Amino acid sequence: MTKMTPLLQRNEQFARTYTPVALGLPAAQVIIVTCLDHRVDPAAVLGLQLGDAPVIRNAGGRVTPAVIDDIAYLAFLAEQLFAGQVAVDRLFEVAVVHHTQCGTGFLADPSFRRQAAEATGLSEAALEASAVADPHTTVKADVERLLTSPLLSPKVSVSGHVYDVATGRITTTVDARYP
Ligand SMILES: [Zn+2]
Repeated sequence: MTKMTPLLQRNEQFARTYTPVALGLPAAQVIIVTCLDHRVDPAAVLGLQLGDAPVIRNAGGRVTPAVIDDIAYLAFLAEQLFAGQVAVDRLFEVAVVHHTQCGTGFLADPSFRRQAAEATGLSEAALEASAVADPHTTVKADVERLLTSPLLSPKVSVSGHVYDVATGRITTTVDARYP
């Protein structure tokens, strides 16, 4: 018996009626970048089904170098595996979704950040970079960071959105555009 036991039972239910999904282009032609917060699950909030969209999650849903690397690889993979199926000059849209009440918001406070750095061994700069105090501001900055990255394929568009934990509603802050 572990904490996973009830979840594994749910998986057993899931597997009973499961239909495998073949490796193919994401049906929604979107990649979601969002926070790891357990109240912000894109499958639930955006109604994603298996095969719809890759989801990249980290603290805050920030566009870090690791996130940019993953997106660059996914663009390459899509072009290699699905040449002919995708429009020559368009691959997919990356939707960056930040949210209200983000736990990383505490890191905007310098003394909290210093304590967190001392306790975890993480650098204060790294912690500051993950902070989402105002999601409308950070999502704009992250869309810009991705659009200006030399690693981003010119065939990938980027948009920015904010999820309101209080209402369940997502609003678009930055419309999709290409680099
Ligand atoms: Zn969060």
